Amino acid sequence: MVCGVWSIDHGAWSTASSPQCAVHGSSCTVHSAWSTACGACQTMGRLRAAAAGIGRRPQPGTGPAKRSSGRCRETTAPQRGASCPAPAQPSAFHLFVDTAEIEAFRTSLLAWYDRCKRDLPWRRLAESEPDVDRRAYSVWVSEVMLQQTQVATVMDYYTRWMQKWPTLQALADASLEEVNALWAGLGYYSRGKRLQEGARKVVSELAGRMPRTAEELQKLLPGVGRYTAGAIASISYGQATGVVDGNVTRVLCRLRCLGADTSSPPVTEHLWGLAHTLVDRARPGDFNQALMELGATVCSPKAPLCAECPVRPHCWAQRRVEKELEVASRRLLGKAPSSCPPEPDIEECAAGASGSCPLCPPALEPWDGSLRVANFPRKAAKKQPRAERTATCVLERSGRRGEPEFLIVQRPSSGLLAGLWEFPSLLVAPELKEKQQREALAGHVRAQTGTAVAAGRLRHVGEVVHVFSHIHQTYVVYSLLLDGPRAAAPVKREEEPELPASRWVTKADFQAAAVSTAMKKVLQACERQSREEKMPRTVSKRKRGAAVEDAPRPPGRVKVGTDADGGLARGQLSLHTFLKAK
Ligand code: SF4
Ligand code: ZN
Repeated sequence: MVCGVWSIDHGAWSTASSPQCAVHGSSCTVHSAWSTACGACQTMGRLRAAAAGIGRRPQPGTGPAKRSSGRCRETTAPQRGASCPAPAQPSAFHLFVDTAEIEAFRTSLLAWYDRCKRDLPWRRLAESEPDVDRRAYSVWVSEVMLQQTQVATVMDYYTRWMQKWPTLQALADASLEEVNALWAGLGYYSRGKRLQEGARKVVSELAGRMPRTAEELQKLLPGVGRYTAGAIASISYGQATGVVDGNVTRVLCRLRCLGADTSSPPVTEHLWGLAHTLVDRARPGDFNQALMELGATVCSPKAPLCAECPVRPHCWAQRRVEKELEVASRRLLGKAPSSCPPEPDIEECAAGASGSCPLCPPALEPWDGSLRVANFPRKAAKKQPRAERTATCVLERSGRRGEPEFLIVQRPSSGLLAGLWEFPSLLVAPELKEKQQREALAGHVRAQTGTAVAAGRLRHVGEVVHVFSHIHQTYVVYSLLLDGPRAAAPVKREEEPELPASRWVTKADFQAAAVSTAMKKVLQACERQSREEKMPRTVSKRKRGAAVEDAPRPPGRVKVGTDADGGLARGQLSLHTFLKAK
């Protein structure tokens, strides 16, 4: 009966009914310390479960294996006499099974990291901070900020954040608005919000003490997933647990030629299994950072620097490239393939050749020689973001000292861009006619702020496009300059608690407020239009010619040219200005 645990370091299934190492049995110094709650054991259990639906090892004399009931886990001892078929073990081709190789891999990677690691503020803090809770907090902040954001962008944000809120208590005491304001520009505002919720939970429910293991971090803290928990635990506490992020995924896929969709459960679980296998037991935090650093600086997505790679001898993708080049050059030189039978080659996966391996590239996707090692990993086709249109009104008035002021309202406290401030905005149906759109927007502004706005007075500025991760948002921008030096200031009234908070802000206040990047683009579009209107009427012929190309589309439906930021393209006339110039 094969129903024990996968022996991570030795690459074999335990045949015991209780967790122990298949190679060393109960005397194994690695596995005897592991419990069934161990992250690595759980990972391999999940891998086994995921693989169960794809293939399994036939039991002697039982014929083809039947589909698992899914109840056979390493945490559950099999009942006496019950049959517990095991799934197919992943091919050794996709694993690290040789302890000497694993040791060599760790040594090479850590030596390279010690030599080449980037000097980053969160690393300095993690290395120098003696207080374990502060250390874990500082790592937590950096990991949340680095999710889907470049290191260069995060550095400044991180420094400002840690200066403003150096402790969990300080962050817990901050307001959500302060958090959103500092987060503005990092994207995914919910991440900052959840970070603060987590800090409040640690302070109020856990007596200021951060959970001390990856499992507890994931279980107890909002917004802390498997990756973040592993990163905090390994870097701050030295827990020997692996991590898998985008960079690690790419490196591991290349090291072990994993070509199946990386978001599929068998591949995901396999990656976590590899990460747990490889992580250095003495320096887990450094090892995890080294693997991520390698992916970020050497094993990059499109142009990996394989010649400089410290783990190149362990990389199957690189070997595959070398092999393909050798075959190609032999062909070029007209040399016949060797007549000797080929030596058994590690660079093969028997199940992959037959198209049944859940980790190999799909049989229908052949090797692309031009991509070289970048044949790995393969990604699933990206889901297209859904298209939305939002009518937005930039209400402007003259401030006390004559400077322009703008009206902003606060978004609801949940959902997209929760709690952020924006110009009054209304989601509109794509088929809505321009006139109806204006009327709907004017009615919305009136209802939200109490300011009477005549639909006919709204000036069409143009369209600004902003792509969120899952929404392709088009803002149809209108503006309106309110009369009088200090037009009535609509604010939320006591008797209207359902209205969102609203306030007038100067441009400087607007930039410092918790507003989204999209709203900053909207303001830029309005400012460009104002500048263009102030331009002398003698518009150069060349510019007129450029505008004519955009002219035939009807007003209100014209897509104003946008630059990389989504604002009006520099030097390009808006339709409004063009018509005036005519
Ligand atoms: Fe990545 Fe190349 Fe190193 Fe392989 S040899 S891990 S593909 S950089
Ligand atoms: Zn395979």
